[in-house]
Amino acid sequence: HKDANAAKELTWYEPYMNHQTNEMIALESSLRSALQSNEFELHYQPQRDLATGEITGAEALLRWNHPVFGMVPPKDFIPIAESSGMIVPIGTWVLEQACADMNNLIEAGMRNISLSVNMSPRQFYQEDFIQSVQQLLERKQTPGCSINIEITEGMAMDFTVQNIERLEVLRELGLGLFIDDFGIGYSSLSYMSTLPFDGLKIDRSFVSRMLHNSADAKIIKSMIDLAHNLEMSVVAEGVETEAQYNYLRELGCDTMQGFLLAKPMPIEDFKTSFNQ
Ligand code: C2E
Ligand code: MG
Ligand code: MG
Ligand code: MG
Repeated sequence: HKDANAAKELTWYEPYMNHQTNEMIALESSLRSALQSNEFELHYQPQRDLATGEITGAEALLRWNHPVFGMVPPKDFIPIAESSGMIVPIGTWVLEQACADMNNLIEAGMRNISLSVNMSPRQFYQEDFIQSVQQLLERKQTPGCSINIEITEGMAMDFTVQNIERLEVLRELGLGLFIDDFGIGYSSLSYMSTLPFDGLKIDRSFVSRMLHNSADAKIIKSMIDLAHNLEMSVVAEGVETEAQYNYLRELGCDTMQGFLLAKPMPIEDFKTSFNQ
């Protein structure tokens, strides 16, 4: 009786599951060829210091320009790249491209800025991850201090002693370490104080609600105070209005990023429009 029910359920769900699976298989196999066919691009979203108004850097955001599907947003392919393991070679490409782009910026005189790269757990947990970063920086002759790594809050809270040691090595190499999408996970404050991060990025959802919802405004204020007490800096993501910008500056938030300043753009546009 139980088996019959299970079979019935399977039949019931089959069309939907097949649909998902076919799409996923198609994406997964085209992800494999995408690297070889140069279908990936990095776009850069500028970040500005709220106190001085200076451009402090930009976040590298991955774009997949698929020959048939067009621009595929990260949310549609990063999870598949994660589960298939393809995120490892893709992530290597991202880091390498960011170093090349940083070198290009340095040549143009943009020495005082840094580029931030998003890191997937699977990539970070690779046994040779630290070594590969070190070799990459040496091979490209890119200063470690011009590259930041963003790790999501959930991932950071899962770190073992070994992972924390890796963070320490990255820091010795000069890289900046940031906790991404901060506030939506479940951070343990005492644990957070033991992690060697340089800053945190307040999730866009708080910024978008902060002027309509006093609870969110209080949470943002607490996050900024917490970070400063731990000697970390704060980047606010998803700033879209002047009102949000001014409020964050009043609260003492260090850096902002969002459509108000600029959308993510090709490196050449960033270089020409934001070279101060
Ligand atoms: P994220 O790291 O939190 O990146 C910020 C996202 O917010 C980006 O979306 C950016 O375009 C968007 N955004 C920035 N400012 C605004 C704004 O003012 N309003 C609104 N509505 N959105 C804004 P995107 O590029 O679609 O990336 C989504 C996520 O995909 C990223 O979130 C990151 O987690 C992941 N991702 C992107 N590139 C990479 C990568 O190279 N490697 C890995 N592992 N993940 C990546
Ligand atoms: Mg990010
Ligand atoms: Mg983020
Ligand atoms: Mg986010």
